[in-house]
Amino acid sequence: PARPLFAEQLPAGLQTISNIVAVSSCKGGVGKSTVAVNLAYTLADMGARVGIFDADVYGPSLPTMVSPENRLLEMNPEKRTIIPTEYLGVKLVSFGFAGQGRAIMRGPMVSGVINQLLTTTEWGELDYLIIDMPPGTGDIQLTLCQIVPLTAAVIVTTPQKLSFIDVAKGVRMFSKLKVPCVAVVENMCHFDADGKRYYPFGRGSGSQVVQQFGIPHLFDMPIRPTLSASGDSGTPEVVADPQGEASKIFQNLGVCV
Ligand code: ADP
Repeated sequence: PARPLFAEQLPAGLQTISNIVAVSSCKGGVGKSTVAVNLAYTLADMGARVGIFDADVYGPSLPTMVSPENRLLEMNPEKRTIIPTEYLGVKLVSFGFAGQGRAIMRGPMVSGVINQLLTTTEWGELDYLIIDMPPGTGDIQLTLCQIVPLTAAVIVTTPQKLSFIDVAKGVRMFSKLKVPCVAVVENMCHFDADGKRYYPFGRGSGSQVVQQFGIPHLFDMPIRPTLSASGDSGTPEVVADPQGEASKIFQNLGVCV
């Protein structure tokens, strides 16, 4: 388990959370939300109390990837706090559950919305809050990292050389903020067909990241039609197929964070 945070550093709404883990990527579409959601449900399956905060205001994925019965966040009018919705015991907050359409907002406004959603939520006692970060390393990401003292970061990437350059940016951002990057997930690295293994995007910028930046863990995630289908259907893959290959990968990642 990662180190606990010092309660006095935290905004009031976050004081009962032991570990806050950012799942980050420098580009969209590499599988960041897929990793965040499946990691959260794996940790829950391992017995932890878990919440997911979807910090992507422009394109929230959480409402598609998990399907809670109650799809709207509730307010506590007296305390002026937000009550998260819940699916299979994991607490969920996303702008997509706030009852508004996709956002057209300028950066500072987005930072304000994220800050408010994150810090006025009644998270309760949590072992892990997984933050599905907006892609990139701009102002919104920096502000978010400054609001919450993160325990650790997980970086999601794809195998292309180009991604390596972006990952390096991400690692630098977190290292400036003194947040340890505990793992890199190299997603969509291969698929198996006709008894052969194919590497459609080439091989291994992930191992370069691990060597160059001393990140302790590298996880290869193959292209899996079931992972995509479960994301679209609102049931995380590790919930739909708890004995499956993806579950094993996320269990190992869960042990790391
Ligand atoms: P991001 O959060 O980085 O934008 P997502 O997690 O939303 O990316 O993933 C983008 C799309 O790719 C989703 O439809 C998701 O289901 C799919 N996907 C992600 N990883 C895999 C994988 N390993 N195999 C198959 N589909 C995947």
